[in-house]
Amino acid sequence: MRIDAHTHDWLCHQDIKDTGKYIADCARAGIDGIVLIATPRGRGFSENCFEVAERFGDFVIPVLQAPMETAGPDDIHRMFDRGALGIKFISPAHPYSDERYLPLYQAVKEREGVAVFHTGYLLHTPDYDPIYASGMDNMRPAHIDAILRRVPHLKVMMAHFGSPFWDETWTVIRNHPTVYSDFSGGTAIRRSMFFWREMFAPNGELAEDVVSKVCFATDVGYFREGGIMDDRIPRYINFYDQLFDSVGAPAGLREQVNSGNVLKLFGQR
Ligand SMILES: [Zn+2]
Repeated sequence: MRIDAHTHDWLCHQDIKDTGKYIADCARAGIDGIVLIATPRGRGFSENCFEVAERFGDFVIPVLQAPMETAGPDDIHRMFDRGALGIKFISPAHPYSDERYLPLYQAVKEREGVAVFHTGYLLHTPDYDPIYASGMDNMRPAHIDAILRRVPHLKVMMAHFGSPFWDETWTVIRNHPTVYSDFSGGTAIRRSMFFWREMFAPNGELAEDVVSKVCFATDVGYFREGGIMDDRIPRYINFYDQLFDSVGAPAGLREQVNSGNVLKLFGQR
């Protein structure tokens, strides 16, 4: 089984009349479920995410993005009341570990939800739109370490393996039992297998404690017009399979990365 732990919504689910066929098409492409991250609408939240979750049932794990500068703990609670299983944080005006954000994380913890953090480099538009003003320094993996020391045992998914702060991510997921990461986002999969083998099986010895904290994820969009699958999905599946082979990961560990971790994190198992 494989769950895609970081995906986005093309807002076209209404175009997909036959939900069973779409789920079967995804399964044929190697995807048995997705964590669907919805973008915020002002102080409100994307109802689309929940419409999708209602139509596609267990196939979808809904996560809502919180507007970090304006949301308070009550907003986080409302998101969980509505059915979110996790809250996405991205593009903070201050570093993630700034005191002002801790009540948001505390609220996520109170609801036993997952805090999904964009970590590392964030894209910007060619004209440098101010909505992308937050630099990668605010989203370094090191901030997750600092947050866990003040909100202990918070369940965290660090998206994109902290690109390019790969070593920081390695250290953070290894040392915080409730923190996981993934290779979504297009940069990690461009690094060589030589590079990853060195990180996850130094001198040929499998670092199982670190590999076991990774999740399968792509960062592609689902529910596209006409129900067409994103053609980047096979590239990610191939990357993870190559990584498993090159570090000598046993079957149980592959299963953990492909689905077990994410199901456990979001309380689906
Ligand atoms: Zn994303």
